[in-house]
Amino acid sequence: MKTNEFFWFILVANVGMYLLDTLANRLNLRALKPEIPTEFEGIYDRDEYRRFLNYTAATARFERIGATWDLVILLVFWLVGGFDWVDRIARSVHGGFITTGLLYLGALYFGKWLLNLPFEVYDTFRIEERFGFNKTTPAIFAGDQVKSLLLSALLGGALLALILGILQHGGSAAWLYAWAAASVLLVAMVYAAPALILPLFNKMTPLEDGELRQAIMACASRLGFPLTEISVMDGSRRSTKANAFFTGMGRTKRVVLFDTLIKNHTTDELVAVLAHEIGHYKLRHIIKHIAGAIVNIGIFLFLAQWIIHRHGLYAAFGVAHPSIYVGLALFLVIYGPLSRILGILRGAQSRKHEFAADRFAAENTGLPHALGDALKKLSRNNLGNLSPHPLHVILYHSHPPVLARVRELEKI
Ligand SMILES: [Zn+2]
Repeated sequence: MKTNEFFWFILVANVGMYLLDTLANRLNLRALKPEIPTEFEGIYDRDEYRRFLNYTAATARFERIGATWDLVILLVFWLVGGFDWVDRIARSVHGGFITTGLLYLGALYFGKWLLNLPFEVYDTFRIEERFGFNKTTPAIFAGDQVKSLLLSALLGGALLALILGILQHGGSAAWLYAWAAASVLLVAMVYAAPALILPLFNKMTPLEDGELRQAIMACASRLGFPLTEISVMDGSRRSTKANAFFTGMGRTKRVVLFDTLIKNHTTDELVAVLAHEIGHYKLRHIIKHIAGAIVNIGIFLFLAQWIIHRHGLYAAFGVAHPSIYVGLALFLVIYGPLSRILGILRGAQSRKHEFAADRFAAENTGLPHALGDALKKLSRNNLGNLSPHPLHVILYHSHPPVLARVRELEKI
C-alpha cells in the first residue's frame, strides 16, 4: 500500500462522505415534528403519527448501521490487500483478458452482494414487517434475489465484456466508443425492460372496464396522450406500499398501476396522479432524464479512462499487476463520492420537474385538491417523511417533501 495522493484522496473522500451522510441523518431525525402538521389533520390520527415517527427513526438508525458496515468492509478489504488477492486468484485461472476481468469483477460484485444480504433480510423481514408493510414471503424473497443475480450476471456481464474490450483495444478514444455503446444499451433497456424484465417479477393484468378505466382513458385523450393499455401490477405480493408509472415507446403507451394504489384512492385521485405522470411526458422530463443519465455515463467513462492508466492508483491499493479491469474496480471506489455531486444536481432537477408535473396535472384536470389528497394519502400509506431536513433533501431526494407539494397545489 503506497500512501500517495490517490491513497489520501480516496480515504478522505470516502470517510468525508460517510461523515456528511451521518450528519444529514442526524439533522433529519431532529427535524421530525412531534405534532401532526395542520395539513395532515384528518389524514393521520395520533397513533398512526406515532407509528410514522417510530418508522422514520428505525429506518434512519438501520441505514447508518448499513453505511458503517459498507465503509468498514471497504477499508478492511483495501488495507489487507484484498484487491490484489482477488486478482491473483482470477489470474490463476489462466483465461483470456475478458474472462479474467469478468471473473475478477464478478467475484467482487458477488462478495459485496453476499455481505449486504443479511441487511436486506433484516430490512424486509424485521423493519418492514414490524410496521406492517411487508407481504413478501421467504420464497418470493429468495426467488427475487436469484432472479436479480442471474439478470446482473447476464446483462452486467455482457455490458462489462463489451466495455473491457473497448477500453483495452480502443486507444485514446476508447471512452467515446464505450460511451456510444453504453448509451445505446441504456436507451434499449429503458424501452425494453418493462416488457422483458418486469414480467419476471410481477404479474400484470389489464384493468377491467368500468368507471376508473373510462375516467383514465378520457383524461389521457383530453391531454392528447397516446395511452393504449392500462395494467394493474400485483405490488401487494411484496408490500403494502403503492406506486404508478408509465412504460412504452413511440405511439403506444402503457400505464401500470399498483393494485395497492387502486385500493386506497378515489377515481378523481387516480386520474390526478395519472395526469401528473402524463405531465412528465408532455413536459419532456423523461427525455431530459435519459439525456442526464447519458451525460453521467460519459463523465464516468472519460474519468475512468484517464485514471485507470495511472500507476499511482494501483500502488495505493497494493495491486501488483495493473490491468483495465482492476483499474475499473478501483475507479469505482473513487467514483462513489464523485457521483454524489452529480446526484445532487440531478436531484435538484428532478424536484423541479415534480413541481412542474403537479402544476400541469392541477391545471389540466381542474383537480388540484384531488391531487393534494392523493399525495397526502400516498405519503401516509408509505409513511413518507413529512418534514425532512433541507440537507437531507439536497443530498438524496428525487421528490420535494410532500408538505411543500401540497402547499404549492393549494396556491393553484
Ligand atoms: Zn412525478
